[in-house]
Amino acid sequence: MGAVGGDFEGDLKELRETFNSGKTREASWRRSQLHGILSLLKERESDIFKALNQDLGKHHVEAYRDEIGTVAKSANYALGNLKKWMGSKRAKVPLVAFPSRGKLVPEPLGVVLIISSWNFPFGLSLGQIIGAIAAGNAVILKPSELAPTCSSVLANTIYNYLDNSAIKVVEGGSSVGEKLLQLKFDKIFFTGGPRVGQIVTTAAAKNLTPVTLELGGKCPAVVDCISSSWDEKIAMKRIIWGKFGACAGQVCIGIDYILTQKKFAPTLVEFLKKYIKKSFGDNPMGSNSIAKIVNKKHFSRLKDLLNEPDVKTSIVYGGSSNEENLFIEPTILLDPPLDTTIMTEEIFGPLLPIITLETIEDSIEFIRSRPKPLAIYGFTNNEKLQKRMICETSSGSITFNDAITQYLIDTMPFGGVGGSGYGRYHGKFSFEEFSHLKAVLVRGYIIDFGFKYPPWNDKKLQL
Ligand code: NAD
Repeated sequence: MGAVGGDFEGDLKELRETFNSGKTREASWRRSQLHGILSLLKERESDIFKALNQDLGKHHVEAYRDEIGTVAKSANYALGNLKKWMGSKRAKVPLVAFPSRGKLVPEPLGVVLIISSWNFPFGLSLGQIIGAIAAGNAVILKPSELAPTCSSVLANTIYNYLDNSAIKVVEGGSSVGEKLLQLKFDKIFFTGGPRVGQIVTTAAAKNLTPVTLELGGKCPAVVDCISSSWDEKIAMKRIIWGKFGACAGQVCIGIDYILTQKKFAPTLVEFLKKYIKKSFGDNPMGSNSIAKIVNKKHFSRLKDLLNEPDVKTSIVYGGSSNEENLFIEPTILLDPPLDTTIMTEEIFGPLLPIITLETIEDSIEFIRSRPKPLAIYGFTNNEKLQKRMICETSSGSITFNDAITQYLIDTMPFGGVGGSGYGRYHGKFSFEEFSHLKAVLVRGYIIDFGFKYPPWNDKKLQL
């Protein structure tokens, strides 16, 4: 068994010894571990599909797209760029330091703790490990207990495919997480909600441990088809995907709600209904293309959102659910009151409120008056509006005419701002997030400027 037991101190000690031996710094070790992840994904594909279906009801095509395929892409990208990332970069030095050579040398941080979420149990665990090992660190991973089959597959397969003296999996929930947080790590990378994010940062502060926080929030989609042209079919497919087509809307960068012009809203509702049917059939309740809600607690939380009196009456499509198989139908709401929970808290499920505004430009003030989202989406080709949205709102990312796709692009940083988190990862940004960029200055003895040494006199100021 690769999963460590209660003796986390012993495990940390072992990882630290491995790190101190210099093994994980070797490019060959980093490569072998990245290849290990690729082999794991390939050889254990059916175990991964089964686990994702059991814990989250994900269809294997969705599972491949969002987890296996995404992680494999990132591992291959890291393998292709590792040499370049690991290399030191020359730094220009000013005349005052002449003669000298300056360089920037990335060094691994040490032993890092990765705490991950349940909605993409493989993507948000192996994806993070890719950055950590590419940067030469030893790792403890704590997957989420809310996807228990996936957690167990991770614990067992990682043991078989990766170097267990440097990478360990600890399974468990909040009490295990809290025990781990008592230890001194060199970095903590946390993916989850803001409440636990605060617990993590408070514990990390005691050891001055740097933290990356990948949190969530309410990601708005500004849908404007009055002030710009659009391709209805493509836009609708992307909106449906961005809301319902990945883990049933249990996605940190999923569309939380739509902002649109009042006079366009009835048309938009009809479009959405039409394309929900095209994507999930006439009876979406029976669709195997929509994942299930992770557990009863979240199922009840989502039902409670719909049952608030003024919210219930705003449902214009859907609203059905089946507690037995934890399924909630894609549901559209028109103008639920802004002070109800569905509009004040992250929805994290297949419920889509549409909020209507007089003009599409009003969406900018609407977004600005709320916490900074992880992602903002704008379905518009109106360049003036695009520019205003980029300049006048703040979010981890902003994507026009699509949703979620930004997550798949390794050349772009992924991360939040303000309440949606801090730090960034993916591709080279992951490597940097798990590295320290050390400034190295090598001076020569040929010339020396005397003005910087005492004894002081006014002549030295004139030089
Ligand atoms: P969560 O914060 O409840 O749990 C996250 C992890 O923290 C889990 O592994 C859990 O076991 C652990 N944990 C819980 N209590 C702990 C404690 N006291 N001490 C230490 N660890 C503890 O979040 P969740 O339910 O897994 O995920 C949902 C949230 O995560 C949403 O807000 C979502 O937006 C966010 N999220 C963000 C991203 C991102 O990349 N930014 C990705 C997925 C999910």
